Amino acid sequence: MDEKWSVRTKAVHGGIRRSQYGELSEAIFLTQSFAYPSAAAAEARFESPGPEDFVYARYNNPTVRMFEERIALIEGAEAAFATASGMAAVSGALLAMLKAGDRVVAARALFGSCLYVLENVLGRFGVEIVLVDGTDLDQWREALAGGAQAVFFEAVSNPTLEVVDIAAVSELAHAAGAVVIVDNVFASPVFSRAIAQGADVVAYSTTKHIDGQGRSLGGVILGRREFIHDVVEPYMKHTGGAMNPFTAWIMLKGLETLDLRVRRQAENALALAEALQGQPGLARVVYPGLADHPQHDLTMAQMGSGGTIVTLDLAGGKAAAFAFLDALKIATISNNLGDAKTIVTHPATTTHQRLSDGERERMGITPGLLRLSAGIEDAADLIEDMRTGLAAARNAAG
Ligand SMILES: *Cc1c(COP(=O)(O)O)cnc(C)c1O
Repeated sequence: MDEKWSVRTKAVHGGIRRSQYGELSEAIFLTQSFAYPSAAAAEARFESPGPEDFVYARYNNPTVRMFEERIALIEGAEAAFATASGMAAVSGALLAMLKAGDRVVAARALFGSCLYVLENVLGRFGVEIVLVDGTDLDQWREALAGGAQAVFFEAVSNPTLEVVDIAAVSELAHAAGAVVIVDNVFASPVFSRAIAQGADVVAYSTTKHIDGQGRSLGGVILGRREFIHDVVEPYMKHTGGAMNPFTAWIMLKGLETLDLRVRRQAENALALAEALQGQPGLARVVYPGLADHPQHDLTMAQMGSGGTIVTLDLAGGKAAAFAFLDALKIATISNNLGDAKTIVTHPATTTHQRLSDGERERMGITPGLLRLSAGIEDAADLIEDMRTGLAAARNAAG
């Protein structure tokens, strides 16, 4: 491994550990614990484990370590800790560093489970949570004037695609003494430059683009060496949210093709957004890669791409959205995203069903809203599929 290699080369070769058999593909070390040649060797390894010493899979494992090293190289982070799911990463990063009496300032437009961890879990342990409109720097400034230990936001929100200015919010947060934790799922490691832009910690659900083929749940926390080793690792080791070796192998192989897949997905997302914009039956097409998105310039400066997700708002409301979904032949009705297969979700009745009408309205989740995660299929086929959906939606709306 050469530090000078491009991220695309590191994504294929980074972190590899070969066993005595010299296997080409990464091995799955499906083992819970490790055997020691002598009692004294066990004592020594527990006393001060070296970088290649493993003791128990809840702490670490060679396959998991390969994944952590490879994704840290791609993200430009000093270190990483892999977790059992995206939510284990988000909750782990927050719970590892916070204590009663601390204050967290967070963007309001959050994935439901992230909001639950903030309000219902951290809140229960005496952490004060202040929610702001993530796109409004004045609200961040005002909230941070009261001080904070952590700032948390999704850089691109799910599903309304609001974009938070990572550099500007990090500057305000650091002035207030807060650690900046970014859930950067929608950017994916391909378009994320969050650490270079000022974030201290980046969390991913690897369930999404990193697996990219809908197989396994996983997550990862990335950041500075001391934060990962001294703050995150002890917490994760003892509370049991580690990634298992088989999952790590899936994610490791996912990283090899991540760049190819995500760039194709983003090209397809842009092609779909452009083809659908202005079509009858659509109230809105939201895509940060389109010039009419309110934060288009910020998005291009921050990510260099509009990403892989497009949000459509059907003029005919829920009936039109359901007719659209039921008419699709290629895109699949599901609630995952970042997959090789194009997936369409109706947030109001699925991922955001638990919220009240008022909460959904505040978050911009209208009855006609559909979240479209572009896959790697042929763009012309996908456009044709969406046209079929739109025709059905118009018929349903009468
Ligand atoms: C999916 C998702 C998560 C949670 O990830 P899991 O792997 O399902 O636990 C967290 N944040 C965002 C933005 C997501 O899209």
